[in-house]
Amino acid sequence: MPAPAIQLDHVSKRYPNGFLALDKVSLAFQAGEIHALLGENGAGKSTLMNILYGVHEPSEGGVLMAGRQVIHRRPADAIAHGIGMVHQHFKLVLPFSVAENLALVAKGERRAALRRPAAVRAFMAGYGVDLDPQAVVGDLPLALQQRVEILKALVDDSRVLLLDEPSTILTPAETENLYATLRRIRERGTAVAVVTHNVDEVLAHADRYTVLRRGRTNGSGLIASTHAAELVERIVGHAVASGTRIGPPRQAGQECLRLAAASVRPASGSPGLHGVDLLLRAGEVVGVAGVEGNGQSELFELLAGQRAAHAGQVLRAASTEVALVPQDRHHEGLSLDLSVAQNLLYRRIMAGEFRRAGLLDHQAIGERAQAMIAAADIRTHSHATPARALSGGNQQKIVLARALDQAAPILLVYQPTRGLDVAAAEAVLERLAAAACAGTCVVIISSNIDELIRVADRIVVLNGGYITGEVRGAGMSVSAIGPLMTQGRPTPSTTPEPAHA
Ligand code: ADP
Repeated sequence: MPAPAIQLDHVSKRYPNGFLALDKVSLAFQAGEIHALLGENGAGKSTLMNILYGVHEPSEGGVLMAGRQVIHRRPADAIAHGIGMVHQHFKLVLPFSVAENLALVAKGERRAALRRPAAVRAFMAGYGVDLDPQAVVGDLPLALQQRVEILKALVDDSRVLLLDEPSTILTPAETENLYATLRRIRERGTAVAVVTHNVDEVLAHADRYTVLRRGRTNGSGLIASTHAAELVERIVGHAVASGTRIGPPRQAGQECLRLAAASVRPASGSPGLHGVDLLLRAGEVVGVAGVEGNGQSELFELLAGQRAAHAGQVLRAASTEVALVPQDRHHEGLSLDLSVAQNLLYRRIMAGEFRRAGLLDHQAIGERAQAMIAAADIRTHSHATPARALSGGNQQKIVLARALDQAAPILLVYQPTRGLDVAAAEAVLERLAAAACAGTCVVIISSNIDELIRVADRIVVLNGGYITGEVRGAGMSVSAIGPLMTQGRPTPSTTPEPAHA
């Protein structure tokens, strides 16, 4: 086998605060392969990618390309060596066109060439991408913005393409398309390294895998000679039962909110909601299943009180607060520059708690935050660490812990486990089930049917802005829910409302 396109040789990374994020990691990415990098949140995946890309320097060990030692002090060094990276948060100029965004990062002759739309089309076609070069990037759906990011990373004929959790923001169909593009890139001899949490995606699309666990490699090999249970076990370090029900049986209580023939007008790119009837009771977990973009965000906003119904009614007592775990934890859920403690206690601090003689009582804030960190199993160096430094799973645990701390009668969560590893997702679902047992009405909007079946008491299905059906108890199965997600118009509910508990 030729020397790997890029490899890490006994690389360790200790952050300035003393945390050892990588511990003597050796790993090779081969040309013409899709190599999946798997691991729990906090395992060190982003740190590893950032070292390859020159964002961080290793504390020990070295990076080799085609067998030769390279030193990447900054991304420009890595780019000069033919490495492209697609970050989780895009770095696009949204008001610019596709062609302009590509030209911005291209060099020399390539940049001049990219002024011609035909050249842009030809470049994109080489990777099987068919986008209008003049399209304004900000107008494109996220999946296509990501395609532009990938093309940007390839503009200088990169030999190595690094992608940090590219599928997190994608629907299953979009993920298929992403990998179709990545296969084209692989065929051109590029080494493709993909960070992901999704074991099924890795089994379906990758050639090789490496699992990181707590800063060390915990297994590496060919996809053809592994299987799901082995990967999951390497990721979480112990065998997990799949498909088991989460939380003890529950009994639904009093009505806390009711949608009566509630409708929201369709808008561009959104189907609206059409005559939705939904009764929410205390102490139950209600799942809302469906392919994203079928009225989920409209339903979220309606239940959250963020928008009004244009027809029908939302009936609730004025005092019925709804605690929210929004879809986008970076923009709506967290203040990334604030500390873990400030994020956890944000609402309380703003409401005037933790004041002593007119000043903030930082010791009390720290102590309270510490208790919440322990209860929610948030992995952080300290409560004073900026939220930005935490992994996605731990950031989500902060948002959830704060919402639970609100003790509202209704907890409304949107895609609560998206982008989380198996263990963090499990912990989040367990907390949601526990909240319902304690009397909260928990509404989970998710495109992950398996997790809804495991945690919900009943599941309603959204399609085209209609609730196309409801299943509950033993009737909750993929075979029952799947057709409801794709059928065009609603059918009368087959499961009658149970008598008021
Ligand atoms: P992953 O990408 O696998 O979720 P990361 O590489 O982001 O993991 O993080 C690995 C560990 O290093 C985590 O525990 C995280 O809190 C810590 N970490 C990440 N960045 C920093 C930083 N700048 N300073 C201190 N610790 C950090």
